Amino acid sequence: MTTPSRFDAARNASPYLYGTELEAVGRVLTDGQYGHTAVTEQFEQEAARFLGVPDAVATASGTAALHCALLAAGIGPGHEVIVPSMTFCATIQAILACGAAPRFIEVNPDTLCIEPAAVLEALTPATRAVLPVLFGGRAVDLGAAHDTLNERGIAVIEDAAHAFGSYSGSVRVGNTGDLTCFSFGPVKNLTCGQGGMVIPRNAEDAATLRGLRMLGVVASQAQRQASTTYRVEGFGLRYQLSSINAAIGLVQLPKFKTTEVTRQELWRAYRAALHGAKGITLVDVDVDRTVPHLCVVRVEGREEVFQRMIASGIAVGVHYPPNHLQPVFAPWRRDLPVTEQIGREILSLPFHQYMTEDDVRHVTSALKDAVEGTAAVTRALPADR
Ligand SMILES: *Cc1c(COP(=O)(O)O)cnc(C)c1O
Repeated sequence: MTTPSRFDAARNASPYLYGTELEAVGRVLTDGQYGHTAVTEQFEQEAARFLGVPDAVATASGTAALHCALLAAGIGPGHEVIVPSMTFCATIQAILACGAAPRFIEVNPDTLCIEPAAVLEALTPATRAVLPVLFGGRAVDLGAAHDTLNERGIAVIEDAAHAFGSYSGSVRVGNTGDLTCFSFGPVKNLTCGQGGMVIPRNAEDAATLRGLRMLGVVASQAQRQASTTYRVEGFGLRYQLSSINAAIGLVQLPKFKTTEVTRQELWRAYRAALHGAKGITLVDVDVDRTVPHLCVVRVEGREEVFQRMIASGIAVGVHYPPNHLQPVFAPWRRDLPVTEQIGREILSLPFHQYMTEDDVRHVTSALKDAVEGTAAVTRALPADR
């Protein structure tokens, strides 16, 4: 099969294929069962074994995983969910899907992740959940605040869309949150083409989640086929992971050690290439414990640097424009000066597994030129006036 070119500078991110995905999908297509099947269940079991957790519930997307996890934690109208503004809009849309309100908080500018103090400060009588985002793959440890929250009946639901495979302490992410949500979207660390997963706290959660993602119908496929009726036992949506997508994940999962090492090596190459670069701050991670998802730097004059990079044919991006400034989330807008400053400075460099160290040198030298050019223009301005 043909794979995308080794490095296409016009891609900020890219799915990485190990080569047998097409064959695996072909087997499912020929077999003719495309819904939630034994293939999906095998993917759930193998992912759970990989993560070292007792159970895993696959969903159609990371957004669906977040929606199901919030519903399983009992989140609904009148409730507030504490969440960073610095995340993908999907995190916030999942809260709105439950009829709940996002309570936006700041992140630490060095990690782009939330801090326990900011969480505790934002608590109100309506708070029912906290939704840390594991930005770029970095684990978020709320420490003693986690116990304080649980004592008050507040769930910690992790948005680990970036963090499949990363470690939280000595265990993989998925072992330490109350509920952890992964995405297997096109450019995530592990891809199913599209897909997601919730790691439940216990067997009760797992059953609730399985109902939620399957239209509230809890009987197995075999049970349904052997009966003239089926029971709809609760609220639920068409959120299951198709066997077609699960088959892709089943190829990617056994290769994850390669994914992990490749992404970590790429990160180290970026870190080395940017070491000491003037005017460029890498949002660094503990790369030995993280499977990096994004390479984010902070620069002054970001708009201009962005345009210069695009003009040199390098696909930079911005993860993310702050959500509290988005029109749809205006009812929940608050003053978040730190996030707004971060939002003006961040730039995501191309980061995917088709890249080599040469590509990293190419990108970083273009970035240094772009930043220096911008600085020269800025310095020249007073004389121009
Ligand atoms: C990708 C992503 C999601 C949503 O996952 P999908 O699979 O695209 O629905 C949620 N949160 C964050 C931080 C993401 O990056």
